[in-house]
Amino acid sequence: MNIHKRLLVPVPNAACTGVPTLLSGRLITPYMYLITMAFRTRFAPSPTGPLHLGHAYSALLAHDRARAEAGEFLLRIEDLDSARCRDHFEAQIYEDLDWLGIRWDGPVLRQSEQTQDYDAVLSDLTARGLTFSCTCSRSDIRAALAAPQEGALPLGPDGLIYPGTCRGRVAQGDTADEALRLDMTKATAVLPDIFYYQEVGEDVPATITVLSQTLVASVGDVVLGRKGQDAVAYHLACVIDDARQGVSHVIRGQDLSEATQIHVVLQQLLGLQTPVYCHHRLIRDATAKRLAKRSDAQAIAKFRDDGMSPQDIRRLVGL
Ligand SMILES: [Zn+2]
Repeated sequence: MNIHKRLLVPVPNAACTGVPTLLSGRLITPYMYLITMAFRTRFAPSPTGPLHLGHAYSALLAHDRARAEAGEFLLRIEDLDSARCRDHFEAQIYEDLDWLGIRWDGPVLRQSEQTQDYDAVLSDLTARGLTFSCTCSRSDIRAALAAPQEGALPLGPDGLIYPGTCRGRVAQGDTADEALRLDMTKATAVLPDIFYYQEVGEDVPATITVLSQTLVASVGDVVLGRKGQDAVAYHLACVIDDARQGVSHVIRGQDLSEATQIHVVLQQLLGLQTPVYCHHRLIRDATAKRLAKRSDAQAIAKFRDDGMSPQDIRRLVGL
């Protein structure tokens, strides 16, 4: 049986949104079923450091938009990287958002509590023959790409375009560093030849066209998961959770704009509704460098300790 089809339960009377919700039994909560919203967005930080101005901008933008649309604003904690995530950073996220005046609707979704569902979808894609097992190191990939060509190596939305070395290989067992990749060639055989998604930028709305035949060259065999702990890759977890949470609008930074192609491909393969995407400008520091998570000097908590108000933060990020 097709596992994701079993998990996919349309929200009753959701004619206004058409947003399906990926649910497993333990995740069914009344608010998911009974309230159908035309607009639902989310903020999805990782507790690997303090929230900084860039996060504040993203969260405030999504929150303000949800309130303006009389919609919902959800909070998701992307805590799958257990080596880097810390409880005190998660606690700080709640504190910072609260201080900024941001209230979230419904329960917080913590990705570390959803691993069974990610595994089920990975197993499903594997059972459908859409994955292969890969043991290539980063330097293996660089070497394979460098051999047939000169100059710059082909770069896609998820890093170097995988050269296909292990394509067709089946899982060898419990090799520690084994990655499960999407076989994009096989995926394109089941994807529609052409599909679309909506991008609502800070300028004008646009319909983005994806041609299946270009995906092997432009996106390649992206990693969906790895053996062992923290098994699922960011892109797959993100897509599953956006569907599970019934997100109608994804509002996030421009740094994830390119990755949207991967997300839309996965939604097509899993039979999930594609949300509307909005990729906002990135907040940069005085040297025009994108704010890294580690730039603690820009941490919300630091501004607060220095006596700034939430209104000051809004002004700083241009809201
Ligand atoms: Zn490989």
